[in-house]
Amino acid sequence: MKMLEEKLKIDKITKGTVIDHIDAGYALTILNLTGLDESKNLMTIGVNVSSKKHHTKDMIKIEGVFLNETQMQQISILSPNGTISLIENYNVIEKKKVELPSMIRKLILCVNQTCISNSDEPIDSEFFVLEDKPLKIQCIYCERIYKIEEIVFASKKKKEKKVIQRFQL
Ligand SMILES: [Zn+2]
Repeated sequence: MKMLEEKLKIDKITKGTVIDHIDAGYALTILNLTGLDESKNLMTIGVNVSSKKHHTKDMIKIEGVFLNETQMQQISILSPNGTISLIENYNVIEKKKVELPSMIRKLILCVNQTCISNSDEPIDSEFFVLEDKPLKIQCIYCERIYKIEEIVFASKKKKEKKVIQRFQL
């Protein structure tokens, strides 16, 4: 694992984004949810990389791609410790922590069929963030509480995407 981490450090990208300190096991879920998995660009994905701070972590390096606000929020929901580095000419020009908002709008679906957010004239879903680590959110309309593994994400292409459970290697 140590060698892998060193290799990931060496394989620098010329221009693009490094998503680091992803909760171990969530890299593939993040790629899927953000739609980055459909990119044709060069990507390096590290799963269960050894990390001083959090034992193991995942990381994603993607060449020629910068994330939008929605993608950064999706990452903050799945990995509140995540960091995003922007790379230009092999150098980090900006590094920031993802920020979990206090309210999450539109990105998550309430699965309660009687919830007003699922009525015939659907209104945008909205959730309070009750706790961030581990994530616990509450629908502002029906007050149902969801833990991270119960969250169903809204997606433009497919109607819904369920978080793939943390996998064990
Ligand atoms: Zn609801």
